[in-house]
Amino acid sequence: MKSIINSASDEAIEIAGAGVAGLAAAIKLAQAGCRVVLHEMHDKVGYRFDGDFQGLENWTEEEDVLNVLKEKGLTTDFNVVPCQEGTLYGPSGKSYEVKTDRPLFYMIERGPGSGTLDSALLEQALSLGVEVRFKSRLEKMENEGILAIGPKAADAIAVGYHFGTDMSDGYWVICDDTLAPKGYAYLLVINGRGTVKSCMFSDFKNEKLYVKRTVEAFEKRVGLKMQDPKPHGGYGNFRLPESAYSGRHPLVGEHAGFQDALWGFGMRLAIYSGILAAESLLCGKDYDRLWKKELKAQIETSIVNRALYDLIDNRFYDYFLALVASRKDLHASMRKQYGPSWMKRLLYPWASRHYESRRKDVSCNHVDCNCIWCRSRLCDEKGESSCK
Ligand SMILES: Cc1cc2nc3c(=O)[nH]c(=O)nc-3n(C[C@H](O)[C@H](O)[C@H](O)COP(=O)(O)OP(=O)(O)OC[C@H]3O[C@@H](n4cnc5c(N)ncnc54)[C@H](O)[C@@H]3O)c2cc1C
Repeated sequence: MKSIINSASDEAIEIAGAGVAGLAAAIKLAQAGCRVVLHEMHDKVGYRFDGDFQGLENWTEEEDVLNVLKEKGLTTDFNVVPCQEGTLYGPSGKSYEVKTDRPLFYMIERGPGSGTLDSALLEQALSLGVEVRFKSRLEKMENEGILAIGPKAADAIAVGYHFGTDMSDGYWVICDDTLAPKGYAYLLVINGRGTVKSCMFSDFKNEKLYVKRTVEAFEKRVGLKMQDPKPHGGYGNFRLPESAYSGRHPLVGEHAGFQDALWGFGMRLAIYSGILAAESLLCGKDYDRLWKKELKAQIETSIVNRALYDLIDNRFYDYFLALVASRKDLHASMRKQYGPSWMKRLLYPWASRHYESRRKDVSCNHVDCNCIWCRSRLCDEKGESSCK
């Protein structure tokens, strides 16, 4: 699987998919002097997020995530809102205030607009000479390259609205299976715009009902007021692959299944895996060894966390949230929960049996594959659901 890229060579390295994983990989390769062609099937970056607000988590490492991105050579020239205070609600309606002495996460915008993470990374890639081919759906990868085409199955979905509002900035979360089965409902507001979503891990067929209940719950609890609401949703694929290669091509981001199985905070894993894949090509190192060393333990832990979380339901969420809110140093506590430990390692065999990705066919990694998941992806593009 190993290959060393000669940066002086004229042959371009191809990357399929200009999501954050593909863009991060393109930037690292271009910084090393390689000629990079990045194929994006849509006519812009961040198509599937379209102005979505997301949280760039800042708890898995001690060092601030923005510093880490800078140290890795990536731009941080995108709009961020540091989030240190928020409100959680349990099914009882009781609220739990959380406060941290440094940002628990940074709220950022996704999509093709100005100031978004996607646009900032695109800008950096272009400034380094990456050739970005929009409306270029890669069907086959002949040369050296990286596959970064995003999720191939729906293990969780997040559905709701983007809207304008006169509410003040903030974030609010509700854990309640009648709103978001085995997941959470959330409301994020920045500068007069917001997103409200039900992030559910089961019973997708009733998504409309859960979205309706989520909106009503936020109206009741925090006075949600939406102007010009536009429906928005997406899905995530969580899976720990045996190998993140398809043939000789590294798979990065959600294409590999790299995600946070507990809550879906996948951006960091996507970016880091893109960087590792680029390094593997540049240095002739085995990509599987690299991501297993850097990311595997964290993904395994998230699968254990997911399996444990699946054990609790509406009878226990209030206790769980009270425990979260009572943490003196929530930041450190989250890092501990997300970090590997002997206990989580011990639980992993049980958790991996309990938790099963909907992407059953692990051989389905090919850009030009016609297996069920690739076909369902085509259905998605026609507006049909991929979750059976
Ligand atoms: C609604 C929602 C909310 C989320 N909230 C958060 C959050 O708060 N925090 C967090 O950390 N994560 C969040 N995530 C997860 C996070 O967005 C993803 O994990 C991350 O963006 C994955 O990046 P990626 O580059 O792997 O894939 P993608 O972003 O899916 O990028 C893949 C790209 O490949 C393109 N493509 C596909 N096929 C081809 C092809 N054949 N040829 C060329 N191009 C192709 C696609 O158009 C796309 O642009 C959320 C996800 C969703 C859906």
